Amino acid sequence: MIIILFGPPGAGKGTQAQRIEKSRGLVQLSTGDMLRAAVAAETEMGKAAKAAMDSGSLVTDEIVIGIIRDRIQEEDCKNGFILDGFPRTVAQAEALDVMLAEQGLNLDAVIEMKVDDEALVDRVCGRYTCAKCGEGYHDTNLKPKVEGVCDVCGSTEFTRRKDDNPETFGSRLQAYYADTAPVLPYYADKGTLQQVDGMAAIDEVAAQIDAVLAA
Ligand code: AMP
Repeated sequence: MIIILFGPPGAGKGTQAQRIEKSRGLVQLSTGDMLRAAVAAETEMGKAAKAAMDSGSLVTDEIVIGIIRDRIQEEDCKNGFILDGFPRTVAQAEALDVMLAEQGLNLDAVIEMKVDDEALVDRVCGRYTCAKCGEGYHDTNLKPKVEGVCDVCGSTEFTRRKDDNPETFGSRLQAYYADTAPVLPYYADKGTLQQVDGMAAIDEVAAQIDAVLAA
């Protein structure tokens, strides 16, 4: 099964992708995570992507299309995958169609997670993750049971994304409306676009996604 989770930054794509990964045995492919790893490792690709990521604008289509093209050919993608944060431009969507066709693969669902803009800035700027296991938390909505201690692994170290600040978030949202939202009609025209209420509680969103995938 091949799924695209679509929505603005803070819509909950990563959270839901991790749930689907566990429940359906699919692999989460987050271009944002892959790019952050490349930046941290100071690879040539990371160096080329860093300035755009720091400013909240999009990395070039060439770079992200190359990342996905290589990644979906790996063995762990054979059972299917969830695209989280890709495609983000119409050119990326078109390139994805070509890549899938070349491999004889079909896109099963494009799920748009709809969230009010006002809720996004709070979600994004309050979120942080465990530095050891990656479990996600939020300053007000999702605190660890014991303050400062990860519920899952007990670590006391946490990290925040550099671009999760109000200023950069504004640029990321602008990029979403300018470059990414135009991808929605692309999939609507193909009849693959479905919507879920991203404002609902995490479990409820997961249930809505399950219903879409079961249909
Ligand atoms: P994300 O983790 O999905 O919020 O992505 C973080 C940043 O990585 C974005 O603000 C972009 O700079 C870059 N990025 C991630 N995915 C893409 C993509 N598909 N196309 C272009 N830039 C991307």
